[in-house]
Amino acid sequence: MRPVKITRPAAATLAIEWDDGHKGRHTLAILRKYCPCAGCKTEMESNKGSSLLPIIKQGQNELQAIEPVGNYALQFVWKDGHRTGIYTFEHLRELCECEECRRVMRK
Ligand SMILES: [Zn+2]
Ligand SMILES: [Zn+2]
Repeated sequence: MRPVKITRPAAATLAIEWDDGHKGRHTLAILRKYCPCAGCKTEMESNKGSSLLPIIKQGQNELQAIEPVGNYALQFVWKDGHRTGIYTFEHLRELCECEECRRVMRK
């Protein structure tokens, strides 16, 4: 299972086509929110239960580049310079927001 085509149908949307025919859809803000790097994970944990609104940095939810990592993951480079998040293909599929996946999640 791996992405075969990645496009940007809208400024804040990423579309990933998979080799199994799945047409995935992602919102950049969600992808950034679930950044799997150690720093972001810690931040998410420490914010749990707090009523503070997250501070959105300039460019935080804007994607500058996507780089493949081996043949198991993608590295997203954000406009604010953040680039330590390595998104494995499994992780990306879990975060998929297409109609089909959302229906499965609701069950
Ligand atoms: Zn991160
Ligand atoms: Zn999907």
